[in-house]
Amino acid sequence: MSLYKSNTILFITGLILFMTTCVPKQTPVDDKGITKNQLIMRIKPIQDSSEYNKLTPEEAHVLLNKGTEYAFTGTLLDNKTQGIYVCKQCDAPLYRSEDKFESYCGWPSFDDQLEGAVTQIPDADGRRTEIICSNCKGHLGHVFKGEGFTAKDTRHCVNSISMRFISKEELLKNTDTLSNESL
Ligand SMILES: [Zn+2]
Repeated sequence: MSLYKSNTILFITGLILFMTTCVPKQTPVDDKGITKNQLIMRIKPIQDSSEYNKLTPEEAHVLLNKGTEYAFTGTLLDNKTQGIYVCKQCDAPLYRSEDKFESYCGWPSFDDQLEGAVTQIPDADGRRTEIICSNCKGHLGHVFKGEGFTAKDTRHCVNSISMRFISKEELLKNTDTLSNESL
C-alpha cells in the first residue's frame, strides 16, 4: 500500500471517529425518536401582544414592573422534574430542566438558557444585569457571573412567578395532537 493511500485511510478513519464521538447528537426522548429540541419547537410563543396570557397582579408586579418575589417562596424553586420552563406572559421556552441547579439563593437558578430566549440588559441600579424574555420583554430576574456554582460560572436567578413549567410527559402527550406537523 502506498504512503498516500494509507494516509488517506488514516484520515478517513479519523474523520469517522471525530464525527461519531465529537459531533453532538440529538438523543431521542421517546420511542418515536422525537428529540428534545423538536419538543421545544412545539411550544409556540405568543407573538401578538394583544393575545398575551392574562397576568395576576402578583405576576404583573414582577414581569411588567420588574418586581421580585420573596426569596424561598416561588413554586418552581425546588422543582426537579424534567421539562421546559416557559415565559408566563408569552409561553416562549426559556430554560431546560438540565440547566437548573441548586444555588440556595432562594430563587430558581439556571446556568444556561435556550439559545436567544433571554436578553441581558444593564439593570437600572447600575450594578446588576437584568434578564428579560427576548420575545415579550417581560422581566425574569438577574444574571450573575463569577460565583463558581457550576462549570459555566453563570447563574440566571429567575423569579418562579415569571415562568410556567411544562413537564417532558406533557410535551410528549401534546405531540399526538400535533402529528400533522413534520417531526
Ligand atoms: Zn415572554
